[in-house]
Order: sequence, then C-alpha cells, then structure tokens
Amino acid sequence: MADTVYLNGVFLPLAQATIPVLDRGFMFGDGVYEVIPVYNGQAFRLDEHIQRLQASLAAVRIRNPLTTVAWRAMLLQLIAENKALQDQSLYLQVTRGVAPRDQAFPPESVAPTVFAMSMALQTPSTALVQSGVAAITALDIRWDRCNIKAISLLANVLLRQQAVDEAVAETIMLREGWLTEGSSTNVFVVAQDKLLAPPKSQHMLTGVTYDVILELAASHGIAHLVAPVSEAQLRSADEIWITSSTKEILAIISLDGQRVGQGQPGPLFQRMYALYQDFKNQYMRHTR
Ligand code: PMP
Repeated sequence: MADTVYLNGVFLPLAQATIPVLDRGFMFGDGVYEVIPVYNGQAFRLDEHIQRLQASLAAVRIRNPLTTVAWRAMLLQLIAENKALQDQSLYLQVTRGVAPRDQAFPPESVAPTVFAMSMALQTPSTALVQSGVAAITALDIRWDRCNIKAISLLANVLLRQQAVDEAVAETIMLREGWLTEGSSTNVFVVAQDKLLAPPKSQHMLTGVTYDVILELAASHGIAHLVAPVSEAQLRSADEIWITSSTKEILAIISLDGQRVGQGQPGPLFQRMYALYQDFKNQYMRHTR
C-alpha cells in the first residue's frame, strides 16, 4: 500500500489517518465506495466511476460532499501523490459521518466522512489468464439493493469466504434460479457462440467493466444478448467469465467441480481478453 491517503480534505500518511469510532461507517456500514483502476498514471473510466459514486450516494441519501470537478481533482492528486506505484487501485469511501449512535439519519449539519487511498493494482497474472480459474455457486443471500455500491458487505464477505474455504476464485450467486453476479464480479456466459449477460437490475451492481465488455461486443460485431440467465444456462454454458475493475476478465473453467466447456478458457474469452487489453491501452494513450 502506498503511503499518502486523503481524509476529509487533507492528504496525509496512512498511519496518521484516523476516524472517530462513532463514524456511521464503523457503526452501521452506512456508506458507499468505489474502486478505480489506474494504469500507468491514467485512471480508467474515471468519469463513469464518479457517476456511479454519485448514484450510490443519491440512492442512500448521503449528501454528495464534493462536486464532480472536485472529485476528479482529488483523485488525480491522490494518483500523483502515489506515483511511485506503477499501476494503482484507488479505493474511495464516503460514510454518513460521525454522530451519536442512532440508526436514523443524523442532522444535516453532520458532514459525510470522505476517505480515499491508493494500493498497488494487482491484475491476474498471465498464467491465471491462460489457465482460467474455478468457481462455486451459492444462493444470493444479499438484500434487494445490490445496484448500490454500499460498504455494508457482510453477505459478500461470507460468500467470498466460501470460495476461499473451497480454494476457488469466486462464488457465483443465484437468486430464485437466476444468475445475479459474483461476490465481487459480474458474470457473463457464452452459449452457442453468443455472449449472454444478466440485465442491469437491483439484484446486481452495474460494473464499469460490465459496460466496457458489452460496448466491445457491440463495436466488434460479437453476438450478444442482455437477458436473464437461468441456472440451467449457467450450468450448461460453453464459457463463463467474471469481470471487475481489478480482475479485468477471467475465465471460469470449473463450476461446482464440473468442467465448463472444454475445461479451458474458450475462444470468445481469448478474443474479448485481447479486445479489452487493446481498448485499455488505446484509452490510456488518448487520455494522456
Ligand atoms: N459486482 C460486485 C458485487 C462487485 O463488488 C464488483 C466490483 N466492484 C463488480 C460487480 C464489478 O464492478 P466493476 O467492474 O465496476 O469493478
């Protein structure tokens, strides 16, 4: 982890960044967050991440403490402060602030707590991209507002630990027989040469990476369909992919111990992985 973080208007060393124990993030998980990848000093899809942050804040009725311009400026400064890191993963959190412990909203005068830090971005190794990874399924035990990127992640923590306990990379969730997403990823399926993705809904987070993948499919003539994906479609898929800002795209080659397709990353995965890397490199050249 790099040293300089941002807390409530000030850049300071991580070791000096402290918050009161009555912060509602600590008491109730009452806050929202973002994770933004930075390649070679360039934030990837920064505006989209800021927009999603603003949507999360509005959904939970936390006052947006900064303007779009100020969010941008703060994050760009954080990147610059941590430029010793080649690629970075920015973590940004806003809570409803510090107030006596009561579930109801505090008075308007209570300022949200804003924290941001930079960590080394660790995208999957080439070996992992080439081999693919295993996943398990589980019932989606989360709430009905999964489109909000909330810091209250207890269900995700338990689901992710299930994957760790079974020595696999991800837990893929099913709600009433329909695919939602992974504990920290979106999920795509390939069947009969067509890419399938569950539609945006309150049962999944709209990943910034999810949008990029669908844009790439559209602009490169890859047959795709955004529609609910059933458990049967998931289990009989030729390919399954997981996507996120830090994992980019990874192929799932085994699901609940059953081989997916040929048991190796499939041809459409290889194509999309290459398109994604090209797009990323191009984007970084254009925004420089
Ligand atoms: N779903 C969940 C539950 C997540 O936590 C994440 C990662 N933040 C994603 C999907 C992927 O989102 P993104 O592509 O914006 O990283």
